Amino acid sequence: MVYVASDERYEAMRYNRCGKSGLKLPAISLGLWHNFGGIDTYENGRDMITRAFDLGITHFDLANNYGPPPGSAEELFGRVLARDLAPYRDEMVISTKAGFYMWPGPYGEWGSRKYVLSSLDQSLKRLGLDYVDIFYSHRPDPETPLEETMGALDQAVRSGKALYVGLSNYSAEQTEAAIAILRELGTPLLIHQPRYSLLDRWIENGLQDVLERHGVGSIAFTPLAQGMLTNKYLNGIPGDSRAAKPSTALSESQITPDTLRKVRLLNQMAAARGQSLAQFALAWVLRSGRVTSALIGASRVSQIEDNVAALSNLEFSQEELERIEVILGA
Ligand code: NDP
Repeated sequence: MVYVASDERYEAMRYNRCGKSGLKLPAISLGLWHNFGGIDTYENGRDMITRAFDLGITHFDLANNYGPPPGSAEELFGRVLARDLAPYRDEMVISTKAGFYMWPGPYGEWGSRKYVLSSLDQSLKRLGLDYVDIFYSHRPDPETPLEETMGALDQAVRSGKALYVGLSNYSAEQTEAAIAILRELGTPLLIHQPRYSLLDRWIENGLQDVLERHGVGSIAFTPLAQGMLTNKYLNGIPGDSRAAKPSTALSESQITPDTLRKVRLLNQMAAARGQSLAQFALAWVLRSGRVTSALIGASRVSQIEDNVAALSNLEFSQEELERIEVILGA
């Protein structure tokens, strides 16, 4: 069946300005790290992407290595784009990244100009696109001069293959240095993509201040701590969950009794607000306007629907915020 986007797709979503740029991003974006690979069901991936778009999620986040196998999430997204979303390309913000291992030999990962630019060309082919909206350096490279990696990002924009550039997993200090180089090159840093959730708050110790000082936006990945900040692990590990699957980034051993104790208390708070724990965790990430977008993952359409509904209650009282600190600190 030919996909036709819902006429109501812009009614419920909020769009936040990305730093001091001209670009707005949806408060909730969809990432294709898990569940959109060659090992997953194409139809389920397509349903999640099109449903997300119908709910106002205009931003889809990819990377060269998403799959498995690496590259296959870009291929799946490219198929959905060609078949269903091509008429809406200008309503979408599509990102990809280069940094992690993609091919053998000395040019298949990290941050050399050689790797970064050839990886972007490969991504564009898999996606079936002439350009991506945001191109990221996926991780800092301790051996390549920062000038070289930033120069490659600048070149991606100048050659018309990306509209904006981003950094992911860079520390506050590395980010500040990169911002200065990019500014000099004339391609300002649009966005940083760090890990951030109720269970991992490292960006509050410096990175957020750097981003604010320089007018750079942020998109928080794993805002649900890969599913730990939902009700899914409260009574054991469901067979179809990420933690039960082989070789994913979430292992059973990470779901410790201490984490579960905190998650149960947070779940009680969420229930008192009439929210699912996932909604509560997303509202918290977005609470002060310091984060431009919460970058969720999903394994089924119903999770995306649940998560977008978080937007109907993003406010926290001072009392609630203090209670959260007590729970997390205990
Ligand atoms: P989340 O923390 O949002 O976890 C997503 C998982 O949580 C889903 O796969 C699902 O687990 C579960 N889930 C989601 N919604 C619900 C719900 N409403 N109720 C119950 N369970 C739910 O994010 P991800 O870890 O998937 O990461 C999101 C994106 O962030 C990635 O796709 C990628 O784009 C980006 N990312 C970037 C990184 C980087 O280095 N730049 C690193 C990691 C991620 P289940 O599958 O078990 O159903």
